[in-house]
Amino acid sequence: MRSHYCGGINESHIDQDVTLCGWVHRRRDHGGVIFLDLRDRDGISQVVFDPDTPESFALAEKVRSEFVIQVTGRVRRRPAGTENDNMPTGQVEVLGRELAILNAAATPPFPLDEHVDVGEDVRLRYRYVDLRRPEMLNRLRLRSKVTSYIRNFLDRHEFMDVETPILTRATPEGARDYLVPSRTHNGSFFALPQSPQLFKQLLMVSGMDRYYQIAKCFRDEDLRADRQPEFTQIDIEASFVNEEDLMGITESMIRELFKDVLKVDLPVFPRMPYEEAMRRYGSDKPDLRIPLELIDVADLVAGVDFKVFAGPAKDPKGRVAALRVPKGSELTRKQIDEYTKFVGIYGAKGLAYIKVNDLSKGAEGLQSPIVKFLGDEVAMAVIERSAAQDGDIVFFGADRRHVVDEALGALRIKVGHDLNMLTSEWAPLWVVDFPMFEETSDGQLTPIHHPFTAPSCTPEELTQAPATALSRAYDMVLNGTELGGGSIRIHDETMQETVFGVLGIEHDESRSKFGFLLDALKYGCPPHGGLAFGLDRLIMLMTGASSIRDVIAFPKTQSATCLMTQAPGVVEDQQLKELNIRLRKPVVKASEAETDDSVKEG
Ligand code: ASP
Repeated sequence: MRSHYCGGINESHIDQDVTLCGWVHRRRDHGGVIFLDLRDRDGISQVVFDPDTPESFALAEKVRSEFVIQVTGRVRRRPAGTENDNMPTGQVEVLGRELAILNAAATPPFPLDEHVDVGEDVRLRYRYVDLRRPEMLNRLRLRSKVTSYIRNFLDRHEFMDVETPILTRATPEGARDYLVPSRTHNGSFFALPQSPQLFKQLLMVSGMDRYYQIAKCFRDEDLRADRQPEFTQIDIEASFVNEEDLMGITESMIRELFKDVLKVDLPVFPRMPYEEAMRRYGSDKPDLRIPLELIDVADLVAGVDFKVFAGPAKDPKGRVAALRVPKGSELTRKQIDEYTKFVGIYGAKGLAYIKVNDLSKGAEGLQSPIVKFLGDEVAMAVIERSAAQDGDIVFFGADRRHVVDEALGALRIKVGHDLNMLTSEWAPLWVVDFPMFEETSDGQLTPIHHPFTAPSCTPEELTQAPATALSRAYDMVLNGTELGGGSIRIHDETMQETVFGVLGIEHDESRSKFGFLLDALKYGCPPHGGLAFGLDRLIMLMTGASSIRDVIAFPKTQSATCLMTQAPGVVEDQQLKELNIRLRKPVVKASEAETDDSVKEG
């Protein structure tokens, strides 16, 4: 139907006839001449109709924004003075001869002008219109480029693309499962995969050697952060490899991808043990663009009367840390109050601080509500440890360790951004030497990655001291975001049973849930490992989008609904009957329910 894309017309086409198809971006009536900006996937061309072609001119008068039309005409140079240097097609225009209205359009729910701020709810409800905006189109275009590059890279390195089932048994990654009832096996349910983890391991047992898949994963999580119930992973697994092999090849993949697609040279990825990341940055995915660090001061404050500090300082599960912000003493009372509120989100009960006005005056030169509780000597010792200078502010966190880590870790990032302290555009790293397990609030051990991750010790050592055992896991982090994570896996049945044992999964339970894996480990399982990248997050970073919703064609809201299709939806009684399901409570119709489907920032 067309000879060119609208965005592809330029001076090389002058005096040629072209046929363009697309959407009317704008129509302007200039006394006797009608200008149509015609838009398609590739860009916009200006089309002019004049009364010399009366039929087309009359039709052009009728078209409105977002009408779908086909135009044939001749390309000509724009009259001097009317060129638009900001448009790739801005030197030329098409003098329209024929016009066909292929479809009329209702007034769009929002203007497609990039500069108009439209609520995300409306954008998600009319996503097909939202996706016409160049900003959205370009993000999806980049996404397509990235997946194509990655497939290519992995194909070149002998990885095989293998699909794994969507209807399956639970594959635990720490979230709730999405369940699908089976009609043919009443009372039984499939689970949607939280990841292809077990299948990719089984592919290694089968001798596939190198596997990849761009795989949909499903996790029913509490939607606090910027997460999606279904998301995409670049999933990778290989046999007869160690950590170095896997980190090496995937680091090359990401570096070459950035070079190819963004023309960015990423630095070599440093490696940092988990313990160091938590100690210095309060996070296992530190944003190394920000030159601020947490500094432990518990030993200095353990003896003071000030319980807020001394309590956590003496508690083995507590932490007291300082965060020095150079030039931070200019922060106003109001800004400090806002930071106090901010750390409250992470459970901190307050935000103590000391402003350093004049160190030559000793403790006299410090300005703070807490110096009188710490005493001059301790206050000065703390300031010395933090290396604060005149004009700085030092913030403190004193609480249970994870509260301090989270609160000061998040504050570090917020202050770093607020005060424009970023030292580079891209800061990648590997975080390694993770513990195998972490303790939940009820004292249970739970895997930091998943229960198929190999520990760095023997089964006996693991049983003796599970809480301190390290794993052979590694995470790739970029700008404070976890891009991907993986590990060397357990390939030995005894070790796998040991890990299940530590997790309190008894023999019968592990047989019934993971019998197929335990069996496979008996039938010649090679040493293997892998990792998975979050594709949505990767694209978000590469495009500079502020939410993963902006790089997914049809995302769900923060409350896991689709505003366009109104999914999830109520189903017919007959369907439930077939599935042998009876609902415990009558369903409240969506229109009656006070559900909050609005999009909240995470
Ligand atoms: N299955 C893991 C995940 O989804 C990644 C891996 O260990 O390869 O996070």
